[in-house]
Amino acid sequence: MNYINSPIDKIKFKKLEFFIKRDDLLHKDFSGNKARKFYYFLVNDFPNIKKIISYGSAQANSLYSLSFLAKQKGLPLDFYVKHISSYLKENPNGNYKKALENGVNIIEKDVEDLDKYIKENLLADDILYIEEGGRVKEAEYGIKILANEIKSWLENNNLKDVKVFLPSGTGTTALFLQKHLPIEVLTVSCVGGSSYLKKQFFSLEEDEKIHPTILEPEKKYHFGKLYKDFIDIYYELLDETEIEFDLLYDSLGFKTLFEYLANYSSNNLPTILYIHQGGLLGNESMLLRYNRKFKYSLDIIN
Ligand SMILES: *Cc1c(COP(=O)(O)O)cnc(C)c1O
Repeated sequence: MNYINSPIDKIKFKKLEFFIKRDDLLHKDFSGNKARKFYYFLVNDFPNIKKIISYGSAQANSLYSLSFLAKQKGLPLDFYVKHISSYLKENPNGNYKKALENGVNIIEKDVEDLDKYIKENLLADDILYIEEGGRVKEAEYGIKILANEIKSWLENNNLKDVKVFLPSGTGTTALFLQKHLPIEVLTVSCVGGSSYLKKQFFSLEEDEKIHPTILEPEKKYHFGKLYKDFIDIYYELLDETEIEFDLLYDSLGFKTLFEYLANYSSNNLPTILYIHQGGLLGNESMLLRYNRKFKYSLDIIN
């Protein structure tokens, strides 16, 4: 099983060349940045732990990755969600469906702050608690390995003027990458705005000098909502590069990256290494939603 060291591909998209770090190819059940973030838990033993607890959305990529991790560890996983839509309950798909197959206990708890609820009511010495989306210090372990793979690639190819780009949720991956890379890391906030992301960076690292550069997208988008812009760029990417990218993060990622590159003259463009952070199982749910909203979209794939 190749949990580490993913290949780097060169692609052309809308006439520009990009290098893509294919973390989507790490392993079929444990890929993308969740695999990097949870790698520490995968390779270490926790003899005193009897259960893993986490929380997030019922469609989250972290739900499936954690269910795989728990299964590997032979530990039960209680995953708290605020709400599961009746549609999803009746038509399980994507991360939700596959996580259930791995035996996760998905527990609906309609409280304002699940993190607070878990901390106040459920923690004990034999519980391993992993915060939403893997926003934990242990994530640094696996992300440092990713940074080292990138450093070897830079050295082997004698590349210097490269910038790394990846879209952020909690910002954990971007932050620890910047901490361990000698080149600039660019990101965009997909979940909250830029000020939310900046706060996340500060919560993980006080030294602002090692925070990634946050790019501001021209338009505002709400996380998890469906946008024609997003589904369009998803299909354009799939068509031109034959690589499937994530609909929640990468569509906004590529849009923002193109806006950023428009600031450079065409003979002076920086070389971009784009980190593909996986998330393709989540696309299954997103495509169903897109298909219900923009009826034509599934016809385009087939
Ligand atoms: C979780 C996730 C992200 C966000 O990662 P953070 O480390 O929280 O910023 C981005 N892309 C994909 C595909 C993800 O699954």
